[in-house]
Amino acid sequence: MNILVLNCGSSTVKFQIIQSDPERLENGSERRLASGLLERIGSQALITFKAEGQTPHKSTAPLKDHRAAIDKILRWIVSPEARIESIRALSDLDAVGHRVVHGGEKFQKSVRIDKNVLAGIEDCIELAPLHNPANLKGIRACQDLLGEGVPQVAVFDTAFHSTLPETAYLYGLPYHLYLRHRIRRYGFHGTSHRYIAFKYGQMMGLEPKDVNIVSLHLGNGCSACAIKNGRSIDTTMGFTPLEGLIMGTRAGDVDPSIVDFLHSKEGLSIGEIDTMLNKQSGLLGVSGLTSDMRELEEEEAHNQDRRARLAIDLFCRRVQKYVGSYLAIMNGADAVVFTGGIGQNSDVVRQRVCANMDWLGLKLDDQKNRTLPRGEGGDISAADSRVKILALPTDEELMIAQDTVRCVAGSTRG
Ligand code: AMP
Repeated sequence: MNILVLNCGSSTVKFQIIQSDPERLENGSERRLASGLLERIGSQALITFKAEGQTPHKSTAPLKDHRAAIDKILRWIVSPEARIESIRALSDLDAVGHRVVHGGEKFQKSVRIDKNVLAGIEDCIELAPLHNPANLKGIRACQDLLGEGVPQVAVFDTAFHSTLPETAYLYGLPYHLYLRHRIRRYGFHGTSHRYIAFKYGQMMGLEPKDVNIVSLHLGNGCSACAIKNGRSIDTTMGFTPLEGLIMGTRAGDVDPSIVDFLHSKEGLSIGEIDTMLNKQSGLLGVSGLTSDMRELEEEEAHNQDRRARLAIDLFCRRVQKYVGSYLAIMNGADAVVFTGGIGQNSDVVRQRVCANMDWLGLKLDDQKNRTLPRGEGGDISAADSRVKILALPTDEELMIAQDTVRCVAGSTRG
């Protein structure tokens, strides 16, 4: 089956076309036929298309909305320039899998999209006002452009965390606020954490129920997830993706009283404080330089910038605290797995997160950590580390493609 995997953000659309054999799911038989990224939708968009085995092709074009962007993708897919052997016409696309950010409590796994599912995703807009509307635009555009005959599947970022126990998902707030407004912790990055659990299990020859790991997704957005018996039992992001770890521009955990204090001291509105916490804090806010970890590492190494170092240290300490607390609530784990742009590529961050954790059973092999080829995964723990340490590339698109095949082919697995 040829699956179009779509990830629609507020002004971006990312896609991959993945060819998957329904009989051999999970055997690594998938092929990436093409991928691409369309940025700055709404104005002169930057477009990158790449077909398997070819060099990326970059261009610009005015794209007024998500529909125009998806139309552009579909035209390219079947064009002679793309030269995708298995796709000559749009009818060669068998299904579309969408990343949908928020599924609330309603969607606990991936589902085939129908009227009820659309209404359910709409109902979650108030929980994810920036993300779900863009996801819906992508779904509606595909319905228009491909017709109702092409099945579409929604894969939710929150679904993997639907197994959180009440003790993990409730805040210490008046209980009626949960009942009245659905205020609770949902968690995000679920598809990435699920992939890491799947991949780790595959690498170690384990059944999903035997996977006990702490997964660390460290990218622009960051979250940790305690995975026990293959299920998410705690995670750092909460009601929104703001909670938990320090991120590129998000503050992560802060004392909520700061909001009122800032309001009176700086005269900022609630909306302005929300923007500050989400867009001007984290690595950017602390360093005053950039939200980009690679740039911070360069500043620290070449210019001995004190605040660049401070930002990295704060970032690593927060991760370390959560690793410790997750190992405590899990009664230990078999491995800590780093992923995301930072987790997968930054030996500096991995080294600082794992420093002084030998009492908890984590011992990094410095040589393996430093020489792990960028973009490739592997075991970086010392031979006598009781808890394994790995760095693995994540692959949310693969999970979305596999779920899409399962939902469409009606398989009961997953
Ligand atoms: P993501 O959101 O997963 O794409 O991750 C983006 C983050 O990964 C940015 O902060 C990048 O600076 C960081 N990153 C990517 N490559 C490296 C690298 N080689 N060393 C350190 N950080 C990196």
